[in-house]
Amino acid sequence: MKHEPFIATPNSTIKLKNFDPKYSGSLDKKTAQLELQAGVERLAAYQNVLYAQNSYALLIIFQAMDAAGKDSTIKHVMSGVNPQGCQVYSFKKPSDEELDHDYLWRSARALPERGRIGIFNRSYYEEVLVVRVHPELLALQKLPPALNHKKIWDQRFEEINNFEKYLVNNGIIVLKFFLHVSKEEQKKRFLDRINQPEKNWKFSASDAKERAAWDEYMSAYEAVFSHTSTPWSPWYIIPADQKWFTRLAVSDIICSKLKSLNLTYPTMTQQHQQDLLEAKKVLEQEP
Ligand code: ATP
Ligand code: MG
Repeated sequence: MKHEPFIATPNSTIKLKNFDPKYSGSLDKKTAQLELQAGVERLAAYQNVLYAQNSYALLIIFQAMDAAGKDSTIKHVMSGVNPQGCQVYSFKKPSDEELDHDYLWRSARALPERGRIGIFNRSYYEEVLVVRVHPELLALQKLPPALNHKKIWDQRFEEINNFEKYLVNNGIIVLKFFLHVSKEEQKKRFLDRINQPEKNWKFSASDAKERAAWDEYMSAYEAVFSHTSTPWSPWYIIPADQKWFTRLAVSDIICSKLKSLNLTYPTMTQQHQQDLLEAKKVLEQEP
């Protein structure tokens, strides 16, 4: 699969109307599901080497409107990986303790260790999305009045770009996915959640409230992509109206990224090799 069509080109003005949420190329569901299965296995193999090499870490960020499929994409794409090498953080409304800190604090504490894959289900990007759409949330952040000014969004974009550059320079690769669902498809999925009793728990009244601010969210997302898609960490805008396509595209991009790192198992020192031979001898001589 070609990934270029999904990349938000760095340093350009991004308009979401140029990205089709229904896109699935020439793929059909059956083929995509088979390919996803292969992708899940490839990812498990890459993760093994990532863990053994213990040098790089991979941070995968998911942002989307409600019901775009973040949870199920994480569930399917990561289904083959060793749970010991993977951690998922879901970022909710900040707690009192979190609001007493700078806005990147809680994210910095949740970063993956070397050798691990860390997933952010929502992320510090909420700070330039939900907080921008609902300015009353910014008021809760206790910023000194002189620092709460109109330029705060541009300032945060710059801070986020620098933060990600810092991570990449330290071997923490940052992959960012926006699951691009259409407003009509969201409505269908909300109605499913309301109509099917076993899905009721997935729907909350606040989901409908956020939907009412759809256009404001889309503008905020476009600003995010225009300012924070960078050569070191571009945004991938993934069509999300067909879940089988979303999962395959995400899996494919993660695998390509890991492949490009040319990961290798650590080479053993001579001492270690000698230790292995000694141990082998002892084991073989056991009665
Ligand atoms: P799901 O609905 O599938 O369980 P979710 O990610 O939507 O997943 P919720 O508990 O419904 O989880 O929503 C989390 C809420 O927290 C979202 O509305 C999100 O915008 C909000 N949130 C996350 N980060 C911040 C932040 N930094 N400031 C304010 N609100 C935030
Ligand atoms: Mg929700």
